[in-house]
Amino acid sequence: MKLLEGKNAIITGASRGIGKGIAEVFAKHGANVAFTYSSSAEAANQLEKELQELGVKAKGYKSDAADFKQAEELVMNVLEDFGSIDVLVNNAGITKDNLLMRMSEEDFDKVIEVNLKSVFNMTKAVQRTMLKQRQGSIINMSSVVGVKGNAGQSNYAASKAGMIGFSKSMALELGSRNIRTNVIAPGFIETEMTGKLDEKVVKGWREAIPLKRGGTPEDIANTCVFLASDLSAYITGQVIGVDGGMHT
Ligand code: NAP
Repeated sequence: MKLLEGKNAIITGASRGIGKGIAEVFAKHGANVAFTYSSSAEAANQLEKELQELGVKAKGYKSDAADFKQAEELVMNVLEDFGSIDVLVNNAGITKDNLLMRMSEEDFDKVIEVNLKSVFNMTKAVQRTMLKQRQGSIINMSSVVGVKGNAGQSNYAASKAGMIGFSKSMALELGSRNIRTNVIAPGFIETEMTGKLDEKVVKGWREAIPLKRGGTPEDIANTCVFLASDLSAYITGQVIGVDGGMHT
């Protein structure tokens, strides 16, 4: 059953990893997909073609989610190309890990800008369209780290916790217009972002997860399908952990 037939979705940061997984699963469910990337033009072109072959409309846009003006321009372009926006997935994110003692001001600011300010930028940019339509689903990609903190990731944890406060506020502000805002808190999902980690450490993590494996982009994408679709019509302001039981 196709759960997103005819819906138009914007997914930020979909040239690889979780975002790419969401784009693929959304397209399989019949959604038209506008997606962004920051520098991976080749990968974006390839994904665009792959999605179009699934029979949906798809287009990749180079757009820095951290830049307010670029987010506004992106949404204007997507509206021109797609006509409406039903779903926004704020997925673009980066890490710049270090203990506080060694963390530079630049690395703190950059992570907050890409991970948190981007959510403000994009939500503000789609707000008017969703208000007019009197419907919309916004899905924000936080992290288990935003819920419980992590040594060596204070900038990342702050950005991901900030997204939760922002999303809960949006659920309250926009609920009366049938715009829902929810958060996904992935645990350990095996992508390029985590591919940089030491295999021995990763093995230990897998063993510590109750479901005994790292998550896949599809695990996250399936939750996004639920939150984007009408199956979750009465759910807003929630943080859903998709973490194999890592944080209960
Ligand atoms: P990833 O493999 O590193 O991919 C990141 C994506 O974001 C890429 O498509 C990248 O585009 C894009 N991006 C980066 N900076 C951007 C910017 N300023 N503007 C627009 N796009 C930008 O990361 P991932 O593992 O899939 O993670 C995706 C999201 O899930 C992130 O928000 C991350 O914090 C969150 N998350 C991941 C995990 C995990 O275990 N992997 C766990 C919890 C939460 P380019 O290819 O052009 O650089």
